[in-house]
Amino acid sequence: MFADLHLHTSFSDGTYTPEELAARGKSLGLAAMALTDHDTVEGCARMAAACAAAGIEFLTGTELTAEFNGNEVHVLAYGIDLGNPRFLSEVARFQAVRRDRIQEMVARLNTLGIPLEANAVFAIANCRSPGRPHVARALVQAGLCASLEEAFERFLKVNRPAWVPKCKMSALEAIQLIQQAGGVAVVAHPGLNRTDLIIGQLVEAGLDGIECFHSKHTAPTVQHYLEIADRYRLVVTGGSDCHGLSKGKPLVGSVKLPYHYFEKLKEHVAARRARSLLRKPAAQAQNGVAHAI
Ligand code: AMP
Ligand code: ZN
Ligand code: FE
Ligand code: FE
Repeated sequence: MFADLHLHTSFSDGTYTPEELAARGKSLGLAAMALTDHDTVEGCARMAAACAAAGIEFLTGTELTAEFNGNEVHVLAYGIDLGNPRFLSEVARFQAVRRDRIQEMVARLNTLGIPLEANAVFAIANCRSPGRPHVARALVQAGLCASLEEAFERFLKVNRPAWVPKCKMSALEAIQLIQQAGGVAVVAHPGLNRTDLIIGQLVEAGLDGIECFHSKHTAPTVQHYLEIADRYRLVVTGGSDCHGLSKGKPLVGSVKLPYHYFEKLKEHVAARRARSLLRKPAAQAQNGVAHAI
């Protein structure tokens, strides 16, 4: 039995709907899935229903963009209370920043003589959490770039002319925000960011887990982070980070997290939610784990 706990849908920059993703999960025989759209939990209700219908366990989630010492750090939030007011208002703020950032990226493209309109990007994104992949798709659709890769290479990658930094919260604040919402905080794809030097400080701030298994981690990288997880007693997670097709194939299920890691994560979520429920009135508690617990 396997899980894929890092997935994006059309509620952020993925191309599958929650229903399409759950259907893929079912045909691959996945036992559990979690949704980790960027800076939103909007797709979780539909994904929970689709997974329940497909007989797949589901855990709510999101992937927050944070920073630490000037480096981008992605923090996965699992099992959060979908009705937590502070969490929802912070995420809404992140989404507003994302929309302003699209306007700024388009303005920079216009300055470079590229006649893209912000509305074309928003129409393609069709969600509250637009990002650079939507700008890239709009550039391709308008015939202004031949491919998504070209759009990133010429304009959108870090330090390219249309790249705009995101206003980010510190990873320490992100951990706190997730935990007060009854969630478990996991550092995403540490092999892709310069995370090793800061992991001790994140652990001190209460970090719960580390994403050892990821589609862009090599086998030695996985081993390295499993050792780090062991050293700091962190929960181990993993997922494909599927955004749809990758090199013509769906990425979902390409990382198969052994089910016993998912069980440990569920135990952590249950313990965190029990603690956070003690701290607030029952009326505020909502379904964080729609199907799994
Ligand atoms: P954003 O959150 O707007 O900064 O966009 C980040 C997303 O863009 C990532 O999650 C990837 O899906 C995608 N991305 C980042 N770099 C590249 C790249 N070089 N080529 C294609 N997609 C990329
Ligand atoms: Zn993405
Ligand atoms: Fe990420
Ligand atoms: Fe991701």
